Amino acid sequence: MSILEFDGGSPPLSDVEASFLESLDRAVQNEILQRAAEVDSTGEFPWANIETLNEIGANSIFIPSEYDGAGLSYAAYLKCLIEISKACASTGITWATNFHAAIPLLLYAGEAQKRAILPKIAGGSLAAVCLTEPGAGSDATAMKTRFVPAGDNVRIDGAKVFITNGGVADYYIVFGKWAPLGDGRDAISLVYVPGDTPGLTVDRLEDKMGHRGSATAALIFDNCIVPQSHMIGDPGAGLTMLHGFLDRSRPSVSAHALGIARAAFEDAISYVNERVQSGKRIVEFQGIQFLLADLAAELVMCENLLWSLAERVDRGKSISAVEASILKMRCSDLAMRATTEAVQLHGGYGYCRDFRVERLMRDAKVTQIWEGTNQIHRRIIGRSFVER
Ligand SMILES: Cc1cc2nc3c(=O)[nH]c(=O)nc-3n(C[C@H](O)[C@H](O)[C@H](O)COP(=O)(O)OP(=O)(O)OC[C@H]3O[C@@H](n4cnc5c(N)ncnc54)[C@H](O)[C@@H]3O)c2cc1C
Repeated sequence: MSILEFDGGSPPLSDVEASFLESLDRAVQNEILQRAAEVDSTGEFPWANIETLNEIGANSIFIPSEYDGAGLSYAAYLKCLIEISKACASTGITWATNFHAAIPLLLYAGEAQKRAILPKIAGGSLAAVCLTEPGAGSDATAMKTRFVPAGDNVRIDGAKVFITNGGVADYYIVFGKWAPLGDGRDAISLVYVPGDTPGLTVDRLEDKMGHRGSATAALIFDNCIVPQSHMIGDPGAGLTMLHGFLDRSRPSVSAHALGIARAAFEDAISYVNERVQSGKRIVEFQGIQFLLADLAAELVMCENLLWSLAERVDRGKSISAVEASILKMRCSDLAMRATTEAVQLHGGYGYCRDFRVERLMRDAKVTQIWEGTNQIHRRIIGRSFVER
């Protein structure tokens, strides 16, 4: 059996989920895939793809039915994300970010907050998560954004950078420090901010190596005032919420990276079966077969780890930060390796824009950087062995 027939131990899906995946596959093949090269070359936000996804109710799948969603499983969401990202990584991360922003709402928001926002996200609103700051990247706890209570309101002052969906989001989930609690980790808190709130502005849009259609913005919060009812969880509970958030968002960015890896692997397989040198298809050279074998083994193992963690989440069990780090690190390293090897296997043609492996390699790089750089993940995994 070839790896292309082996679906990486695809998760068990209900009939409803399988049928949603079929509609998604049609939308991906007929529309999102067709626009991917143009999205990359123009660097414009993929509004047409958002429309396509909203026509099939894509956001609704990760919102429970009591908030107007379809309430599909985490595994089904991850499977959809792989398929979208395989076709267009920019669209994949744009959509995934809506899910990421929904996580703290689903896990920690009060009932009134859930009723206010989740149906809107289910209906297709865009959302963003604002954690990183100019002076607080890998050490996010060094954030300087301040939440100052002002009567029934909260005043937000600060700057955030590299915010996916920045400038296009309807809702921003913002981490900052509750001023009365000081400047330490135990002051970290969470608030949601509607996109049209005065005092929230886009400082700049990044011009990136890859994911060129995804919006990445630096944001300024200057005297930005929201009601205190927009606080998610208690003041000071932000770090716990951040950890809960990352345990769900890291498998999600792993699925996104696996979409890129699989696209590169499949393109490589089809190219090495066609390209003839020295009178043979290059797939017949053993050196090429060994390389494919290593990539295939890594791909299958990463996909299986993803499904096993997803199944645990769907059973209501937790996954540990170390497991989330192992998955994120291996899937994103694989995306970089598979895309680099795919370019190599295409020879000089792989270096030119006529073949999509060129784009996939540029798209892959950031998967090793965002949602915790892979150095940080190695640190999380490594320090778990230090005896206390
Ligand atoms: C396209 C894109 C989209 C993004 N989207 C979002 C988003 O939606 N929301 C959001 O909040 N953030 C987002 N980010 C931010 C991203 O999560 C950060 O860029 C990332 O966490 C790294 O922070 P930094 O860029 O400040 O790098 P730094 O933290 O300055 O790191 C620089 C280098 O030092 C290394 N390093 C740092 N500390 C250590 C250490 N302790 N041990 C070993 N090495 C270390 C890092 O691994 C890295 O190689 C996005 C970034 C990009 C590029």
